[in-house]
Amino acid sequence: MPKEEALAKLFYLAAAFFFIFGLKGLSHPRTAVRGNLLAAIGMLLAIVVTLADKRIVDFRIIIAGFVVGGLIGTIMAYRSPMTAMPQVVAVFNGFGGGASALAVGAALEEALKGAWIEEITIQFTSSAAGAALIGAVSLTGSAIAFGKLQGIIKEKPVFLPGRHVINIALLLLCLGLSAWQVVGYNPLLFSTSSVSTRELEQSVFPEPFRQAFEKNGILLSRHVSVEHGEGEWSITDEEHRETYIIRSQGGELTVHSKSALPFWLMVGTAAILGIMLVIPIGGADMPVVISLLNAYSGIAAAGHGLVLNNSVLIIAGSLVGAAGFILTALMSKAMNRSLPNIMFAGVGAEVASEEESGNIYAGRVKSASPEEVAMMLDGARRVVIAPGYGMGVAHAQYAIRDLVNHLESKGVEVEFAIHPVAGRMPGHMNVLLAEAHIPYEKLKDLNQINPTFEQTDVVLVIGANDVVNPLARDADASIPIAGMPILNVDAARSVVIIKRSLSPGFSGIANPLFAADNALMLYGDAKQITTELITALKEI
Ligand code: NAP
Repeated sequence: MPKEEALAKLFYLAAAFFFIFGLKGLSHPRTAVRGNLLAAIGMLLAIVVTLADKRIVDFRIIIAGFVVGGLIGTIMAYRSPMTAMPQVVAVFNGFGGGASALAVGAALEEALKGAWIEEITIQFTSSAAGAALIGAVSLTGSAIAFGKLQGIIKEKPVFLPGRHVINIALLLLCLGLSAWQVVGYNPLLFSTSSVSTRELEQSVFPEPFRQAFEKNGILLSRHVSVEHGEGEWSITDEEHRETYIIRSQGGELTVHSKSALPFWLMVGTAAILGIMLVIPIGGADMPVVISLLNAYSGIAAAGHGLVLNNSVLIIAGSLVGAAGFILTALMSKAMNRSLPNIMFAGVGAEVASEEESGNIYAGRVKSASPEEVAMMLDGARRVVIAPGYGMGVAHAQYAIRDLVNHLESKGVEVEFAIHPVAGRMPGHMNVLLAEAHIPYEKLKDLNQINPTFEQTDVVLVIGANDVVNPLARDADASIPIAGMPILNVDAARSVVIIKRSLSPGFSGIANPLFAADNALMLYGDAKQITTELITALKEI
């Protein structure tokens, strides 16, 4: 191995270490920022080594891509609110998958044109086909996920008749086209009987052959080399970087070009498959789908690494793939749903009708003013705050921190109940509360907090709905959140729910908690109401 290559591999290994320690850091809020930084250093190292190691055709294109991409990415990151983070992740996944599909396509075209003719092995083409299939699915699937979350496409599941059969047919077509490419698709250009194979046998290009090419509209350059294969020859036009396959059949020579047509047809089919797979999934399940597509984009990148024989791409892609699959599994578990149920059941098609909600709430919902709730909090010894999506929308975390500080200064014990799927992305609540410098020790997960509700005086549910909905306890109910473990806030002495109305949460179903005997609604925007609560508390 040349010294430069060995050195590049060493640096790639170092980059991989940065990725692994970065990921490890991301597993805890306290080390997350450092983890992110480590992974970014690893990526910078990998980019610098790649740019220094590979034969770069034109740096101007790379710089232009860097500037345009960097600009779009920076504007997107600054302009996207925290609540739109799943959409941002969807776009990144999609572009990652799409980039892998296009890059392996370019590598395949390059190889077919003869530049890397020796690299056309079964491993090369099958990795290229696999990476492009998954990459194209994640590109269009992510675009649909983005559209659904952004409200550009109907959020509810869209069912096409016979969709499972269509999907299986599309997948089989993708596999068939890939296999066609792998065995070598060589369309016939022309045949001739005017050339003998004698010189080809000696790996010499027979000059009369050039005229036969010319007669069929192909002008070859002066530099043509011949390679002997099994029962065939390959002729490479070194200047035009074009390779032709020559076969001898019954005294005739047939000339074939090398084509990536099946590959590109497969990419198109996979792109349709991506749309078909995501369109029947409801908006509420989209974060899980995005996590799965994230895993797909990682696998596509790993396949891309196999195509280019680039170890850092294989390692980074595998890490993204594995992390995405683990996250998908954790989210499915937290929602008590299987992945096939999320992908194929089309949950979320039904939304609670006004009549159903009316029956649940009729005359039973009680509301309170901030002053009344302040009195309750003043007399409490233990308060638990259960935040949800509404806290994020309202940016209420800073006001909540001030409320916690005030309550603690009066000797009240305060903890947070964090549901694993509260909000719109994994760790949504943790990130927001960490942003407001709320100590991590105060955040308790489902298993830690649920046994403590019976000893809790007041639970403040702030902008949460589905994660505290008692209807989820019936695992057999035909509702999207059936069987999802919930925060048992109704076991506390009093529950105060801060939200603007009785509207349903993301799953679209009514919530009997609002009508429970020990529950009070405190209507309003989460940030404004929390600020009013603090003022009222100070006046007591
Ligand atoms: P939710 O059930 O969607 O309810 C959020 C509530 O916030 C709404 O009912 C809304 O009621 C209220 N709200 C909105 N804006 C508000 C504001 N400015 N001030 C106060 N309240 C406001 O949210 P959740 O309880 O956090 O549950 C999350 C849902 O997302 C679950 O169904 C979960 O399965 C799903 N999901 C999450 C993830 C994830 O990774 N986190 C993944 C997949 C699915 P009003 O309109 O009346 O104010």
